[in-house]
Amino acid sequence: MNISFEGKRILVTGAGQGIGRALALRLSKFGGKVIAISRTKKHLDTLAAEDSSIETIQANLENWDSTRDTVKKLLPIDLLVNNAAVAKLESFLDIDPENFDATFNVNLKSVINVSQIVSKNMIDRGKGGSIVNVSSQASQAALKDHAVYCASKAALDQLTRVMALELGPHNIRTNTVNPTVVMTEMGRLGWSDPEKAASMKGKIPLGRFAEVDEVVDSIVYLLSDHSSMVNGITLPIDGGFLAQ
Ligand code: NAP
Repeated sequence: MNISFEGKRILVTGAGQGIGRALALRLSKFGGKVIAISRTKKHLDTLAAEDSSIETIQANLENWDSTRDTVKKLLPIDLLVNNAAVAKLESFLDIDPENFDATFNVNLKSVINVSQIVSKNMIDRGKGGSIVNVSSQASQAALKDHAVYCASKAALDQLTRVMALELGPHNIRTNTVNPTVVMTEMGRLGWSDPEKAASMKGKIPLGRFAEVDEVVDSIVYLLSDHSSMVNGITLPIDGGFLAQ
């Protein structure tokens, strides 16, 4: 597939490490002007050292007002990936209200915040755009000790459908990718225990976790014109886990 993001300004949140970081590097390689937002400066510094054409911005997406100010300064944006998220594992009976707020602030509320600023400007410019929200298989399947994370990703899937409905008439497409486990920092948090990992792999028809690059491939597709009629989907990257 021939892909070029030449002339496009692309905002990626949570690009300091993991999937977001690999995505930022790939999009830059495909000619896009990538703006990488993340929380920890040292991760952004190493990203900029790896690819000096990527603009890095340190921001805590939990903060509604300062995030709005930051994103307004980055306009115009042609393509947006809401990738940043947190996972705080605890059993349902132990859910801590502070963890709930922190999780929903990043995994859902910041997606609304950043997407509002970016899509209002896309509408004003009249050029359309593509937004990819990074969800999870956890939006559609119950995972032990993941109650708040699962709920935040289920809400993200449904938010995405409404965005697709309301922004579609402006030629702005909104979709999610829904990966299975990927062994990033977040993946290691939940799935380093060999017994847990084996049990999850046993439920994945392809018998393995996803690689970071496999998630990046699907996001690139959804950002590109190759998916120009795709709007409002939740795309599993799960080796068939959700097919059962
Ligand atoms: P990761 O390695 O933990 O990276 C998450 C990134 O988000 C980090 O760069 C982190 O910044 C940033 N971030 C978190 N909170 C932030 C905040 N308040 N403000 C700004 N940036 C913030 O996780 P990942 O595995 O790459 O996850 C990427 C996406 O894939 C997430 O949406 C996740 O839910 C989804 N996903 C992951 C898996 C998996 O198994 N890994 C499976 C399905 C879906 P720092 O630099 O401070 O860490």
